[in-house]
Amino acid sequence: MAGVPEKIKTWQMVQPTVYNRETRETTPGRLQKTEIPVPELKAGEALVEVAGCGVCHTDLGYFYDGVPTVSKPPLTLGHEISGTVVAGDPKWIGKEVIIPAVMPCRECFLCKTGRGNRCLNQKMPGNSIGLYGGFSSHIPVPSVDLCEIKDRKGIPLSHFAVIADAATTPFQAAKRADLQPGDNVIVLGITGGVGQYMGQVAKALGAKTVIGMARNQEKLDRALKFGADYVINTTDKDAGAISKEFRALCKEKGLVNTGWKIFEVTGSKAGQELALALLSFTGKLLVVGYGVKSVEYNISRLMAFDAEIIGTWGCLPEYYPIVLDMVLTGKVNIEEFVETRPMSTIERTFEENHKTPPMKRIVLTPDFD
Ligand SMILES: [Zn+2]
Ligand SMILES: [Zn+2]
Repeated sequence: MAGVPEKIKTWQMVQPTVYNRETRETTPGRLQKTEIPVPELKAGEALVEVAGCGVCHTDLGYFYDGVPTVSKPPLTLGHEISGTVVAGDPKWIGKEVIIPAVMPCRECFLCKTGRGNRCLNQKMPGNSIGLYGGFSSHIPVPSVDLCEIKDRKGIPLSHFAVIADAATTPFQAAKRADLQPGDNVIVLGITGGVGQYMGQVAKALGAKTVIGMARNQEKLDRALKFGADYVINTTDKDAGAISKEFRALCKEKGLVNTGWKIFEVTGSKAGQELALALLSFTGKLLVVGYGVKSVEYNISRLMAFDAEIIGTWGCLPEYYPIVLDMVLTGKVNIEEFVETRPMSTIERTFEENHKTPPMKRIVLTPDFD
């Protein structure tokens, strides 16, 4: 274990992509390798030497699509982080950890009423922890929220980065849905970075049936090995046709067609419209993905169906050890869904991920020296 560095080496977002509506010109975003001072650590803070940081759709939103960060650039992006504590809180020094993607204040009304995952004062690396983010050699964080990895079972430390956000957001969504053993579940967008864990986590929590829906057949086939019992390819089909296919599948497999818990992970207009079309008697629709387009819905149907639509955000740090345990006991597979690359490829990796969603989550590992 290395000690405290003189400087934090990092890839800063100096400038996000800017689109000028009047001139219709796009100024490309800029990432820059630089060094920043190591902050003086306060009581209850730890300095984590980064092992890996996942490239998430949220990072691309900040860099390419004008989604504003809380801390203004220049700042370092990256919120899916694993690493080793090298300084600060003595209890934590030398421990391997996952840094939760959102860290609640623990003081406010929401925190005190169990809703800290949506705390308005929450800190998120690569967004609202000053200028610090995961695409760095080190990051200072509150130690109280860290999730210790006691025995990695031979899995590289960098791979655990995906538990922050990608694998834990589904767990929080399942809790919001009150997912119980024996429940029937639909995951819209089961092929995506978060969706692939949504299916696995639902199964690990005892879901009887998981039906995955998405467009990429290769990834749908993979989902069948990890969580999904059945899949429906939605390519070139409208919501009506897919609902029909779903009902036919229920009939064929002897499944009830009421009470389904539907997790919409894509955030796309088409995905949300499909989710609403599938929502039926006593069903629940969990809105896990984020998008900017509006959809129309007759909310009186909720009354007639005795159904619910529920939003869900992030994940409480308290749940991280449960998801970590699911990974370590083999109930949730991360190895098949992670690809590591040196952090110096960050510009190319952002560009590639922005163009085409990758087969596996890319985790960048620091290579500053
Ligand atoms: Zn993320
Ligand atoms: Zn709070």
